[in-house]
Amino acid sequence: MAEKFRAMRGTHDILPEEARTWRWIEDTFAGVSGRYGYEEIRLPVFEATELFERGTGFATDVVQKEMYTFLDKKGRRLSLRPEATPSVIRAFLEHNLGRRAGVSKFFYMGPMFRYDRPGAGRYRQFHQAGVEIIGSPSPGADAEVIGVFWAFLRELGLTKLGMRINTLGCRSCRIKYSEILKDFLSDKLEALCADCKERYAKNPLRVLDCKVAACKVVIARAPDVSTILCAECVEHFDRVKACLQAAGLSFRVDPKLVRGLDYYTRTVFEVYHEAVGIENSLGGGGRYDHLVEEFGGPATPAVGFSSGLERVLLAVEAEGSARGASEAADIVFASLGEQAFIEAFTLASEARKRWRVWLEFDQRKLDRQLATAAKLGARLTAIIGDDELARGVVRIKDMASGDQIELRRQDVIAWLDNRLGGKSSE
Ligand code: AMP
Repeated sequence: MAEKFRAMRGTHDILPEEARTWRWIEDTFAGVSGRYGYEEIRLPVFEATELFERGTGFATDVVQKEMYTFLDKKGRRLSLRPEATPSVIRAFLEHNLGRRAGVSKFFYMGPMFRYDRPGAGRYRQFHQAGVEIIGSPSPGADAEVIGVFWAFLRELGLTKLGMRINTLGCRSCRIKYSEILKDFLSDKLEALCADCKERYAKNPLRVLDCKVAACKVVIARAPDVSTILCAECVEHFDRVKACLQAAGLSFRVDPKLVRGLDYYTRTVFEVYHEAVGIENSLGGGGRYDHLVEEFGGPATPAVGFSSGLERVLLAVEAEGSARGASEAADIVFASLGEQAFIEAFTLASEARKRWRVWLEFDQRKLDRQLATAAKLGARLTAIIGDDELARGVVRIKDMASGDQIELRRQDVIAWLDNRLGGKSSE
């Protein structure tokens, strides 16, 4: 069939079969975050453009090249969110959420938008799940955030995981390192790509993140941040690593890991999966001790991560760890005749309080209705025809064995309870 409309490039539909896996991934994330003491926060998908310019960083590729920015009817500059951290901090300040506790912990999930070049695991509308801890300077908070991320992925059954961590140092270490890096790069500009020449001027740290082969050669010889870290930053990083080791999380220190967003200080990390590849990380995060202040709040340290769920799904598919597709229905109600349908409708409504029920609308031939039940993977089919109706009974067919029994109408729910258990099989 010739379609009139198609989904926009870089967006994708999540069709029912895949949506089941999505729901499982999202439930797992909410479950793990909840057990670690994070509360859910839901935020708008568009904000003032300036929020991301000031938060994510004016010089980042995300803000410079990838934002969906538009003017609304009143001429306000708005952007679809490319990430959620600036929104979390905005909401934290706007609603004075810090007043309740010394430390606030949030988790979120939802669509993000970046005008990226679409490819495997790369979309223009994609989904992230993440957490933020606001109000703790402790290296334990960095380790906890990494721990949530890891636990989430492990609970999805993923094993082929790797993690890189690094520290960028505190603000003064970062400035110092930027200068050293700039110095180092100053006589190698010719060898760098056009983007990196620009990065050199605006934000030299970002050169370290470049994927262009020629730039990588230069970067390999660049001095490491570890050479200039202050004693507090060294201690902070040591304590993060000690926590991770104690918790049995394996990681590799990568002194060239900087990540793409501007607000990070000290710890940064990325998690990747063997099948999805190191260039397409499952997610990452780090500490950002100055963003709350940048948005006009009091000096408040914070740390968080965000995971791309399309990539997590790729990893789940590669490892075949998705929870087996559950059946679409526990029981199908088939009926023959108008009056029988009303009876089936009534019983099905009752059964739907506890089980997944598919109700056949049309009084097609019984074998057609049974074929639907088989297709849906139903365990049972309840059949009501004129004869059953007249005698006040329901016939129930076990779809696996083919056995049939007859029950009095008033006994059906109790029998189902016994047979299917208290809950649907999901
Ligand atoms: P970032 O905030 O850029 O570090 O992104 C965090 C995570 O979001 C990445 O590790 C990816 O898993 C995911 N992500 C970022 N951009 C995209 C995209 N265009 N398409 C799909 N996932 C993405």
